[in-house]
Amino acid sequence: MTSETVEYLVVAPHPDDAELGMGGTIIKLLRAGRRVAVLDLTSGEPTPFGTPARRRRETAAATKVLGLTRRLNLGLPNRTLEATIEARVRLAEAYRVLRPRVIFIPYWRDAHPDHLAASLLAVQARFHAKLTKTRMKGEPHHARRVLYYYCTHLRTHADVSFVVDISGEFDTKMRGMECYRSQFFLGRGPLAGETLRYVGDVNRYWGRMIGRRYGEPFAVQETLGLAALDSVV
Ligand SMILES: [Zn+2]
Repeated sequence: MTSETVEYLVVAPHPDDAELGMGGTIIKLLRAGRRVAVLDLTSGEPTPFGTPARRRRETAAATKVLGLTRRLNLGLPNRTLEATIEARVRLAEAYRVLRPRVIFIPYWRDAHPDHLAASLLAVQARFHAKLTKTRMKGEPHHARRVLYYYCTHLRTHADVSFVVDISGEFDTKMRGMECYRSQFFLGRGPLAGETLRYVGDVNRYWGRMIGRRYGEPFAVQETLGLAALDSVV
């Protein structure tokens, strides 16, 4: 494995989605010494109270809180993200360079068009990355696992496959999310911080479901295998 490669790659539509959906799991993987990278597909801007420069600063601050050393941005268009062939090739090239064993992808049902496009694009690029006889950068690569995380704008109950215990990482996750002042606090009046409280409630709920304090839910489409049972909580 070269210094370029990672074991776990989190594909996110916008900077803040990785933190919201699976910030605790990212911290947990990093604390266990795993090689993790976040690949944001777009800048996330414009938003009502953000600017590109502010969002970059907030993202850098959150990245530091999480302890991430690798965070990339593919520079695809925010608000009009589409699973085009061109975007698929660019993401597939990133997979071929980073060569993740596991890719985390936004859940496949969502109310936000960028999130829907990101979910489809990320799974299509997984297949595209293994093609031979192409002009793409890097060598063919097929990530062994796709795990879906929840950063959804859809107001529905999650169809969950498993939950990761993030009781020890929850406080740090919250501090990471707090970095995105323009997204969760500025101009929100009495609703300032409401998204963070909601995410906290969701994590508390899923934690309770596994007999722990906080948990982050994930879903799979392919059957998930366990190498050992000693991690089952
Ligand atoms: Zn988003």
